[in-house]
Amino acid sequence: SAPARDVGDARLPLRPELADEAPYGAPQLDVPVLLNVNENPYPPSEAVVATIAEHVAAAARGLNRYPDRDFDALRADLAGYLARESGVGLAPEQIWAANGSNEVMLHLLQAFGGPGRTAVSFAPTYSMYPEYARDSHTRWVTGRRQSDFTLDVEHAVETIERERPSVVLLASPNNPTGTALPLETVEAVLDAAARVEVADAPEADGRRAGAVVVVDEAYAEFRRPGTPSALELLAGHPHLAVSRTMSKAFAAAGLRLGYLAASRALVDALRVVRLPYHLSAVTQAAARGALAHRDELLGQVQTLRAERDDLVAWLRAVRHRGEALQVAESDANFVLFGTFADRHAVWRGLLDRGVLIRETGPDGWLRVSVGTPSETAAFRDALTDVLAELE
Ligand code: PMP
Repeated sequence: SAPARDVGDARLPLRPELADEAPYGAPQLDVPVLLNVNENPYPPSEAVVATIAEHVAAAARGLNRYPDRDFDALRADLAGYLARESGVGLAPEQIWAANGSNEVMLHLLQAFGGPGRTAVSFAPTYSMYPEYARDSHTRWVTGRRQSDFTLDVEHAVETIERERPSVVLLASPNNPTGTALPLETVEAVLDAAARVEVADAPEADGRRAGAVVVVDEAYAEFRRPGTPSALELLAGHPHLAVSRTMSKAFAAAGLRLGYLAASRALVDALRVVRLPYHLSAVTQAAARGALAHRDELLGQVQTLRAERDDLVAWLRAVRHRGEALQVAESDANFVLFGTFADRHAVWRGLLDRGVLIRETGPDGWLRVSVGTPSETAAFRDALTDVLAELE
């Protein structure tokens, strides 16, 4: 609900644009099967827990001191991980991290957005983007995705040319649709962004500012074979930032560690807007502990990808009121499906059977995260039951 401004006889000087705003709120309910916020269903193994505990104990011995402000060791570990995962070699100075990729993106908007400037994205997409724009006083504009949720390059380029944003946000794979972008699409957006004349970023010495393009790859590890990461475009594109997170593939949503890869110059700009010591010594230590187990954790991602493909195939075979369900192609750890005349009734029916999914996306669609085999089975049984009831 919106914040209360009135306290007895007093009134808080809330910014007017916040008056009707509610805090981000996917319901956190106590339900047996949680498939609503795209978490990794597998808790860390005892081996991962032990390494994290060791690293955190070492950090605890130095907690009287502020942490390493520039988290050099963690940046080197993250660069090593990206080289292993995507085959792209990066210097530690090209890595940035913060408390979740949410905070990484807020840093991007704080550094490159701001009053008089515009950020552009293409809907349906991640619901937090407009909030980063609001909180950094950046004007927010959305273009659209096509009916299969891919990006129409011509429309994207036109939107960028018309709006002259300083930041373009592209999620790939996209939330809530699961759609990954081909590299040619990202390249076309980068070309258009490089031509933009950004408000109050004057040309100097023949150099034009151009817009920053953020490719949000929170779900990149779940992409299907043959879909390359935008990390491959970093060389030669100083305006590109590729954002990642340990929340999904690393099964560490509770850790709050997001990061990005970009040119050194772009990373340097983010250092200006971060709060001092924003990444606690405990966070840095725990993240390094989890990263030491990257091979085990990436193995689990393979299992989840196979489970995702099975779930897509199963949903495509479901018929509701005489028609096959529509199921979006997914390169992520969730699947968007529909459409339902009353999606809330389907969501509610599932919840009544102990399965929480997310009522999000375009009208009539629902999103389910990929769980363990038994959680996914519980979802399939519950959905079969609910649809029979609503037939
Ligand atoms: N980007 C996308 C597309 C997401 O779906 C999410 C999480 N739901 C995030 C970023 C933020 O993730 P975190 O802050 O946990 O890194």
